Amino acid sequence: MDYQSFFQTELTALKDDGRYRIFAELERRAGSFPRARHHVDGDVNEVTVWCSNDYLGMGQHPSVLAAMHETLDSCGAGAGGTRNISGTTHQHVQLEAELADLHGKEAALLFTSGYVSNWAALGTLAARMPNCVVLSDALNHASMIEGIRHSRAECLRFKHNDPADLDRLLATIEPGRPKLVAFESVYSMDGDIAPIAEILDVCEKHGALSYIDEVHGVGLYGPRGGGVAEREGLMDRIDVIEGTLGKAFGVMGGYIAASAALCDFVRSFASGFIFSTALPPAIAAGACASIRHLKVSTVERTQHQERVAHVRRRLDAMGIPTLDNPSHIIPIMVGDAHKCKMISDWLLEHHGIYVQPINYPTVPMGTERLRITPSPVHTDGDIDRLVTALSEIWSQCALARRAMAA
Ligand SMILES: *Cc1c(COP(=O)(O)O)cnc(C)c1O
Repeated sequence: MDYQSFFQTELTALKDDGRYRIFAELERRAGSFPRARHHVDGDVNEVTVWCSNDYLGMGQHPSVLAAMHETLDSCGAGAGGTRNISGTTHQHVQLEAELADLHGKEAALLFTSGYVSNWAALGTLAARMPNCVVLSDALNHASMIEGIRHSRAECLRFKHNDPADLDRLLATIEPGRPKLVAFESVYSMDGDIAPIAEILDVCEKHGALSYIDEVHGVGLYGPRGGGVAEREGLMDRIDVIEGTLGKAFGVMGGYIAASAALCDFVRSFASGFIFSTALPPAIAAGACASIRHLKVSTVERTQHQERVAHVRRRLDAMGIPTLDNPSHIIPIMVGDAHKCKMISDWLLEHHGIYVQPINYPTVPMGTERLRITPSPVHTDGDIDRLVTALSEIWSQCALARRAMAA
Protein backbone atom coordinates (compact mmCIF):
# COMPACT_ATOMS: atom_id res chain seq x y z
CA MET A 1 0.00 0.00 0.00
CA ASP A 2 1.10 3.57 -0.74
CA TYR A 3 0.40 4.86 2.76
CA GLN A 4 1.12 8.54 2.15
CA SER A 5 -1.12 8.83 -0.90
CA PHE A 6 -3.88 7.03 1.00
CA PHE A 7 -3.70 9.67 3.77
CA GLN A 8 -3.67 12.48 1.19
CA THR A 9 -6.68 11.11 -0.71
CA GLU A 10 -8.71 10.81 2.48
CA LEU A 11 -7.83 14.38 3.46
CA THR A 12 -8.74 15.70 0.02
CA ALA A 13 -12.19 14.09 0.33
CA LEU A 14 -12.65 15.83 3.69
CA LYS A 15 -11.65 19.18 2.17
CA ASP A 16 -14.06 18.71 -0.75
CA ASP A 17 -16.88 18.16 1.78
CA GLY A 18 -15.96 21.34 3.66
CA ARG A 19 -15.30 19.19 6.73
CA TYR A 20 -11.53 19.61 6.98
CA ARG A 21 -10.66 21.10 10.36
CA ILE A 22 -8.32 24.07 10.51
CA PHE A 23 -7.18 25.08 13.98
CA ALA A 24 -6.92 28.74 14.90
CA GLU A 25 -3.58 29.36 16.62
CA LEU A 26 -4.39 31.48 19.65
CA GLU A 27 -2.29 32.99 22.37
CA ARG A 28 -4.46 33.42 25.44
CA ARG A 29 -3.63 36.42 27.63
CA ALA A 30 -4.37 36.04 31.34
CA GLY A 31 -6.41 39.06 32.40
CA SER A 32 -7.56 39.93 28.85
CA PHE A 33 -10.04 37.11 28.13
CA PRO A 34 -12.12 37.05 25.89
CA ARG A 35 -9.40 38.85 23.96
CA ALA A 36 -6.59 36.68 22.55
CA ARG A 37 -3.79 36.98 20.03
CA HIS A 38 -4.32 35.12 16.79
CA HIS A 39 -1.22 33.92 14.94
CA VAL A 40 -1.62 33.48 11.22
CA ASP A 41 1.16 33.18 8.62
CA GLY A 42 3.66 34.99 10.84
CA ASP A 43 1.25 37.85 11.67
CA VAL A 44 -0.42 38.44 15.02
CA ASN A 45 -3.89 40.01 15.35
CA GLU A 46 -6.08 40.63 18.35
CA VAL A 47 -9.36 38.70 18.30
CA THR A 48 -12.40 38.38 20.56
CA VAL A 49 -13.13 34.73 21.32
CA TRP A 50 -16.84 33.82 21.14
CA CYS A 51 -16.60 30.03 21.27
CA SER A 52 -14.65 29.22 24.42
CA ASN A 53 -15.75 26.58 26.91
CA ASP A 54 -13.94 28.55 29.63
CA TYR A 55 -17.51 29.71 30.19
CA LEU A 56 -16.90 31.95 33.19
CA GLY A 57 -13.33 33.05 32.50
CA MET A 58 -12.11 31.02 35.50
CA GLY A 59 -8.97 30.19 33.50
CA GLN A 60 -7.67 33.65 34.37
CA HIS A 61 -9.17 34.00 37.87
CA PRO A 62 -6.62 35.36 40.38
CA SER A 63 -7.41 32.68 43.02
CA VAL A 64 -6.94 29.91 40.47
CA LEU A 65 -3.66 31.35 39.17
CA ALA A 66 -2.36 31.97 42.72
CA ALA A 67 -3.10 28.36 43.74
CA MET A 68 -1.39 27.04 40.62
CA HIS A 69 1.71 29.26 40.99
CA GLU A 70 2.05 28.40 44.65
CA THR A 71 1.73 24.66 44.07
CA LEU A 72 4.01 24.68 41.04
CA ASP A 73 6.71 26.43 43.09
CA SER A 74 6.28 24.26 46.16
CA CYS A 75 5.63 20.85 44.54
CA GLY A 76 7.24 21.06 41.09
CA ALA A 77 5.86 20.20 37.67
CA GLY A 78 4.44 16.69 37.47
CA ALA A 79 2.75 14.17 39.78
CA GLY A 80 5.59 11.72 39.31
CA GLY A 81 3.55 8.62 38.73
CA THR A 82 0.22 6.90 38.41
CA ARG A 83 -2.10 7.32 41.36
CA ASN A 84 -1.07 3.85 42.61
CA ILE A 85 2.68 4.32 42.25
CA SER A 86 3.70 7.57 43.98
CA GLY A 87 1.30 9.85 42.03
CA THR A 88 -1.36 10.47 44.70
CA THR A 89 -0.49 13.84 46.16
CA HIS A 90 -2.13 15.86 48.89
CA GLN A 91 -3.70 18.07 46.17
CA HIS A 92 -5.42 15.08 44.53
CA VAL A 93 -6.91 13.94 47.81
CA GLN A 94 -8.13 17.46 48.66
CA LEU A 95 -9.67 17.91 45.22
CA GLU A 96 -11.56 14.61 45.43
CA ALA A 97 -12.96 15.64 48.84
CA GLU A 98 -14.02 19.00 47.37
CA LEU A 99 -15.78 17.25 44.46
CA ALA A 100 -17.58 14.75 46.70
CA ASP A 101 -18.83 17.70 48.77
CA LEU A 102 -19.87 19.67 45.66
CA HIS A 103 -22.21 16.87 44.62
CA GLY A 104 -23.24 15.66 48.08
CA LYS A 105 -21.72 12.23 47.45
CA GLU A 106 -19.62 9.95 49.66
CA ALA A 107 -16.67 10.01 47.27
CA ALA A 108 -15.21 11.27 44.00
CA LEU A 109 -12.56 9.91 41.65
CA LEU A 110 -10.31 12.06 39.44
CA PHE A 111 -9.23 11.31 35.88
CA THR A 112 -6.94 13.15 33.48
CA SER A 113 -9.91 14.49 31.49
CA GLY A 114 -13.68 14.38 31.24
CA TYR A 115 -13.29 12.18 28.17
CA VAL A 116 -11.24 9.64 30.11
CA SER A 117 -13.65 9.75 33.06
CA ASN A 118 -16.62 8.81 30.84
CA TRP A 119 -14.67 6.27 28.86
CA ALA A 120 -13.18 4.60 31.93
CA ALA A 121 -16.17 4.76 34.30
CA LEU A 122 -18.83 3.66 31.81
CA GLY A 123 -16.49 1.12 30.25
CA THR A 124 -15.66 -0.43 33.61
CA LEU A 125 -19.18 -0.42 35.08
CA ALA A 126 -20.79 -1.86 31.95
CA ALA A 127 -18.08 -4.49 31.43
CA ARG A 128 -17.86 -5.68 35.04
CA MET A 129 -21.50 -5.87 36.07
CA PRO A 130 -22.50 -9.34 34.85
CA ASN A 131 -24.81 -9.31 31.81
CA CYS A 132 -25.26 -5.53 32.07
CA VAL A 133 -27.45 -3.63 29.58
CA VAL A 134 -26.64 0.02 28.90
CA LEU A 135 -29.35 2.48 27.92
CA SER A 136 -27.75 5.43 26.19
CA ASP A 137 -29.37 8.69 25.09
CA ALA A 138 -29.21 8.95 21.28
CA LEU A 139 -27.22 12.19 21.43
CA ASN A 140 -24.66 11.19 24.06
CA HIS A 141 -21.10 12.52 23.74
CA ALA A 142 -18.43 10.50 21.91
CA SER A 143 -16.61 9.77 25.19
CA MET A 144 -19.67 7.98 26.60
CA ILE A 145 -20.30 6.09 23.35
CA GLU A 146 -16.67 4.93 23.19
CA GLY A 147 -16.72 3.79 26.82
CA ILE A 148 -19.92 1.82 26.32
CA ARG A 149 -18.59 0.27 23.09
CA HIS A 150 -15.35 -0.67 24.81
CA SER A 151 -17.30 -2.50 27.55
CA ARG A 152 -18.88 -4.81 24.93
CA ALA A 153 -22.07 -4.78 26.98
CA GLU A 154 -25.40 -4.83 25.17
CA CYS A 155 -26.41 -1.22 24.43
CA LEU A 156 -29.86 0.16 23.60
CA ARG A 157 -30.21 3.74 22.43
CA PHE A 158 -33.25 5.62 23.71
CA LYS A 159 -34.71 8.61 21.87
CA HIS A 160 -33.05 11.85 22.86
CA ASN A 161 -34.45 13.29 26.12
CA ASP A 162 -37.41 10.86 25.94
CA PRO A 163 -38.24 9.22 29.30
CA ALA A 164 -41.21 7.37 27.74
CA ASP A 165 -38.94 5.67 25.21
CA LEU A 166 -36.49 4.81 28.00
CA ASP A 167 -39.37 3.34 30.01
CA ARG A 168 -40.50 1.28 27.00
CA LEU A 169 -36.98 -0.12 26.44
CA LEU A 170 -36.37 -0.88 30.12
CA ALA A 171 -39.65 -2.81 30.26
CA THR A 172 -38.31 -5.21 27.59
CA ILE A 173 -35.29 -6.18 29.72
CA GLU A 174 -35.34 -9.09 32.18
CA PRO A 175 -35.88 -7.49 35.61
CA GLY A 176 -32.89 -9.29 37.15
CA ARG A 177 -30.28 -7.86 34.76
CA PRO A 178 -28.11 -4.90 35.79
CA LYS A 179 -29.17 -1.78 33.86
CA LEU A 180 -27.12 1.38 33.42
CA VAL A 181 -28.80 4.54 32.09
CA ALA A 182 -26.35 7.10 30.65
CA PHE A 183 -27.37 10.64 29.70
CA GLU A 184 -26.27 14.28 29.88
CA SER A 185 -27.77 17.33 31.57
CA VAL A 186 -26.91 20.08 29.05
CA TYR A 187 -26.30 18.83 25.49
CA SER A 188 -23.49 21.00 24.25
CA MET A 189 -24.35 21.40 20.57
CA ASP A 190 -28.10 22.13 20.79
CA GLY A 191 -27.95 23.51 24.34
CA ASP A 192 -31.09 21.64 25.39
CA ILE A 193 -31.49 20.25 28.91
CA ALA A 194 -32.59 16.74 29.86
CA PRO A 195 -35.82 16.09 31.82
CA ILE A 196 -33.67 14.75 34.66
CA ALA A 197 -36.46 14.14 37.21
CA GLU A 198 -38.54 12.16 34.69
CA ILE A 199 -35.54 10.08 33.62
CA LEU A 200 -34.77 9.33 37.27
CA ASP A 201 -38.42 8.32 37.88
CA VAL A 202 -38.04 5.75 35.10
CA CYS A 203 -34.64 4.55 36.41
CA GLU A 204 -36.06 4.06 39.90
CA LYS A 205 -39.15 2.27 38.56
CA HIS A 206 -36.92 -0.30 36.82
CA GLY A 207 -34.10 -0.46 39.37
CA ALA A 208 -31.54 0.98 36.91
CA LEU A 209 -28.28 2.70 37.87
CA SER A 210 -28.29 6.35 36.68
CA TYR A 211 -25.22 8.07 35.20
CA ILE A 212 -25.31 11.75 34.23
CA ASP A 213 -22.68 13.74 32.32
CA GLU A 214 -22.84 17.27 33.82
CA VAL A 215 -19.80 18.50 31.88
CA HIS A 216 -21.70 21.55 30.57
CA GLY A 217 -23.56 22.10 33.84
CA VAL A 218 -20.95 22.06 36.61
CA GLY A 219 -19.85 25.48 37.81
CA LEU A 220 -22.69 27.09 35.85
CA TYR A 221 -25.93 25.94 37.45
CA GLY A 222 -27.13 25.35 41.01
CA PRO A 223 -26.58 27.48 44.11
CA ARG A 224 -23.01 26.13 44.55
CA GLY A 225 -22.25 25.30 40.92
CA GLY A 226 -23.08 21.61 41.38
CA GLY A 227 -24.84 21.57 38.00
CA VAL A 228 -28.39 21.32 36.69
CA ALA A 229 -29.12 18.39 39.03
CA GLU A 230 -28.18 20.59 41.99
CA ARG A 231 -30.42 23.40 40.73
CA GLU A 232 -33.31 20.93 40.50
CA GLY A 233 -32.60 19.29 43.86
CA LEU A 234 -31.92 15.90 42.25
CA MET A 235 -28.27 15.10 43.01
CA ASP A 236 -29.09 12.57 45.75
CA ARG A 237 -31.25 10.55 43.33
CA ILE A 238 -28.44 10.14 40.76
CA ASP A 239 -25.99 7.27 41.21
CA VAL A 240 -23.06 8.71 39.24
CA ILE A 241 -22.41 12.38 38.43
CA GLU A 242 -19.60 12.93 35.93
CA GLY A 243 -17.99 16.30 35.25
CA THR A 244 -14.99 18.14 33.84
CA LEU A 245 -12.56 20.57 35.41
CA GLY A 246 -11.66 21.92 31.96
CA LYS A 247 -14.75 23.94 31.01
CA ALA A 248 -16.51 26.22 33.53
CA PHE A 249 -13.83 25.47 36.14
CA GLY A 250 -11.24 26.69 33.63
CA VAL A 251 -8.42 24.18 34.27
CA MET A 252 -8.21 20.50 33.26
CA GLY A 253 -9.26 17.05 34.42
CA GLY A 254 -12.40 14.96 34.81
CA TYR A 255 -14.15 13.09 37.58
CA ILE A 256 -17.03 11.01 38.82
CA ALA A 257 -18.82 11.57 42.13
CA ALA A 258 -20.77 8.64 43.57
CA SER A 259 -20.98 6.22 46.51
CA ALA A 260 -17.74 5.22 48.20
CA ALA A 261 -18.16 1.63 46.97
CA LEU A 262 -18.75 2.64 43.34
CA CYS A 263 -15.76 5.02 43.26
CA ASP A 264 -13.58 2.39 44.90
CA PHE A 265 -14.77 -0.17 42.35
CA VAL A 266 -13.85 2.06 39.38
CA ARG A 267 -10.56 3.00 41.08
CA SER A 268 -9.74 -0.68 41.42
CA PHE A 269 -10.76 -1.94 37.97
CA ALA A 270 -10.56 0.93 35.42
CA SER A 271 -7.54 0.59 33.18
CA GLY A 272 -7.82 4.25 32.07
CA PHE A 273 -7.51 5.29 35.69
CA ILE A 274 -4.88 2.80 36.89
CA PHE A 275 -2.32 2.95 34.09
CA SER A 276 -2.05 6.71 33.47
CA THR A 277 0.08 9.34 35.22
CA ALA A 278 -1.90 11.47 37.67
CA LEU A 279 -2.64 15.13 36.90
CA PRO A 280 0.10 17.55 37.99
CA PRO A 281 -0.50 18.78 41.58
CA ALA A 282 -0.65 22.40 40.33
CA ILE A 283 -3.56 21.49 38.04
CA ALA A 284 -5.38 19.78 40.92
CA ALA A 285 -4.78 22.81 43.17
CA GLY A 286 -6.03 25.23 40.49
CA ALA A 287 -9.18 23.20 39.91
CA CYS A 288 -9.75 22.98 43.66
CA ALA A 289 -9.45 26.77 44.01
CA SER A 290 -11.89 27.27 41.12
CA ILE A 291 -14.49 24.94 42.65
CA ARG A 292 -14.13 26.56 46.07
CA HIS A 293 -14.59 30.01 44.58
CA LEU A 294 -17.68 29.05 42.57
CA LYS A 295 -19.25 27.26 45.55
CA VAL A 296 -19.65 30.57 47.36
CA SER A 297 -19.61 33.20 44.60
CA THR A 298 -22.72 33.56 42.45
CA VAL A 299 -21.82 36.78 40.58
CA GLU A 300 -20.16 34.84 37.74
CA ARG A 301 -23.23 32.64 37.24
CA THR A 302 -25.67 35.55 37.41
CA GLN A 303 -23.68 37.66 34.98
CA HIS A 304 -23.16 34.72 32.67
CA GLN A 305 -26.93 34.18 32.36
CA GLU A 306 -27.51 37.92 31.90
CA ARG A 307 -24.95 38.10 29.06
CA VAL A 308 -26.49 35.06 27.35
CA ALA A 309 -29.97 36.63 27.50
CA HIS A 310 -28.57 39.89 26.14
CA VAL A 311 -26.89 38.21 23.14
CA ARG A 312 -30.07 36.23 22.42
CA ARG A 313 -32.24 39.37 22.50
CA ARG A 314 -29.94 41.17 20.07
CA LEU A 315 -29.75 38.22 17.65
CA ASP A 316 -33.55 37.77 17.76
CA ALA A 317 -34.06 41.46 17.01
CA MET A 318 -31.90 41.08 13.87
CA GLY A 319 -33.69 37.90 12.80
CA ILE A 320 -30.50 35.81 12.98
CA PRO A 321 -31.76 32.22 13.25
CA THR A 322 -30.75 30.64 16.55
CA LEU A 323 -31.86 27.39 18.13
CA ASP A 324 -34.08 28.07 21.14
CA ASN A 325 -32.97 26.39 24.34
CA PRO A 326 -32.93 27.05 28.09
CA SER A 327 -29.12 26.98 28.49
CA HIS A 328 -26.07 29.20 28.02
CA ILE A 329 -25.25 27.87 24.54
CA ILE A 330 -26.43 29.84 21.51
CA PRO A 331 -26.34 27.85 18.26
CA ILE A 332 -26.65 30.09 15.19
CA MET A 333 -27.95 27.83 12.45
CA VAL A 334 -26.32 27.98 9.01
CA GLY A 335 -27.12 24.53 7.63
CA ASP A 336 -24.26 24.25 5.15
CA ALA A 337 -20.64 23.29 5.84
CA HIS A 338 -19.05 25.57 3.24
CA LYS A 339 -21.14 28.61 4.19
CA CYS A 340 -20.51 27.98 7.87
CA LYS A 341 -16.75 27.99 7.34
CA MET A 342 -16.94 31.00 5.04
CA ILE A 343 -18.85 33.07 7.64
CA SER A 344 -16.40 32.05 10.33
CA ASP A 345 -13.39 33.01 8.13
CA TRP A 346 -14.98 36.34 7.25
CA LEU A 347 -15.73 37.21 10.90
CA LEU A 348 -12.15 36.45 11.83
CA GLU A 349 -10.54 38.25 8.92
CA HIS A 350 -12.69 41.39 8.81
CA HIS A 351 -13.91 41.81 12.38
CA GLY A 352 -11.44 40.05 14.66
CA ILE A 353 -14.27 37.82 15.86
CA TYR A 354 -13.43 34.18 16.42
CA VAL A 355 -16.26 31.63 16.24
CA GLN A 356 -15.27 28.15 15.12
CA PRO A 357 -17.65 26.56 12.57
CA ILE A 358 -19.28 23.37 13.88
CA ASN A 359 -19.68 20.80 11.14
CA TYR A 360 -20.33 17.07 10.67
CA PRO A 361 -19.60 14.71 12.44
CA THR A 362 -19.90 16.91 15.54
CA VAL A 363 -23.46 17.78 14.39
CA PRO A 364 -25.67 16.10 11.73
CA MET A 365 -25.18 17.25 8.11
CA GLY A 366 -27.53 20.08 7.22
CA THR A 367 -27.42 21.49 10.77
CA GLU A 368 -23.98 23.13 10.53
CA ARG A 369 -23.78 26.05 12.90
CA LEU A 370 -21.82 28.69 14.74
CA ARG A 371 -21.89 27.91 18.45
CA ILE A 372 -21.73 31.11 20.49
CA THR A 373 -20.78 30.95 24.17
CA PRO A 374 -21.09 34.35 25.87
CA SER A 375 -19.15 34.81 29.10
CA PRO A 376 -19.47 37.25 32.01
CA VAL A 377 -16.52 39.20 30.58
CA HIS A 378 -17.96 39.91 27.12
CA THR A 379 -18.92 43.62 27.15
CA ASP A 380 -21.90 45.38 25.56
CA GLY A 381 -19.44 46.64 22.93
CA ASP A 382 -18.29 43.07 22.16
CA ILE A 383 -21.90 41.98 21.74
CA ASP A 384 -22.65 44.97 19.54
CA ARG A 385 -19.72 44.18 17.24
CA LEU A 386 -20.72 40.51 17.01
CA VAL A 387 -24.36 41.17 16.18
CA THR A 388 -23.58 43.95 13.70
CA ALA A 389 -21.03 41.80 11.87
CA LEU A 390 -23.41 38.84 11.71
CA SER A 391 -26.21 41.03 10.40
CA GLU A 392 -23.89 42.37 7.71
CA ILE A 393 -22.87 38.95 6.45
CA TRP A 394 -26.43 37.67 6.63
CA SER A 395 -27.40 40.47 4.21
CA GLN A 396 -24.35 40.09 1.95
CA CYS A 397 -24.86 36.37 1.50
CA ALA A 398 -28.66 36.60 1.37
CA LEU A 399 -28.93 34.10 4.19
CA ALA A 400 -32.40 33.40 5.55
CA ARG A 401 -33.53 35.38 8.56
CA ARG A 402 -36.40 34.46 10.75
CA ALA A 403 -39.38 36.72 11.24
CA MET A 404 -38.10 39.86 12.91
CA ALA A 405 -39.11 40.35 16.50
CA ALA A 406 -41.74 43.09 16.77
C1 LIG B 1 -16.04 18.14 26.50
C2 LIG B 1 -16.95 17.01 26.90
C3 LIG B 1 -16.46 15.89 27.59
C4 LIG B 1 -15.00 15.68 27.80
O1 LIG B 1 -14.49 16.51 28.79
P1 LIG B 1 -12.94 16.93 28.71
O2 LIG B 1 -12.61 17.31 30.10
O3 LIG B 1 -12.88 18.05 27.73
O4 LIG B 1 -12.19 15.74 28.22
C5 LIG B 1 -17.35 14.96 28.07
N1 LIG B 1 -18.69 15.09 27.85
C6 LIG B 1 -19.19 16.13 27.16
C7 LIG B 1 -20.66 16.21 26.96
C8 LIG B 1 -18.34 17.11 26.65
O5 LIG B 1 -18.84 18.12 25.93
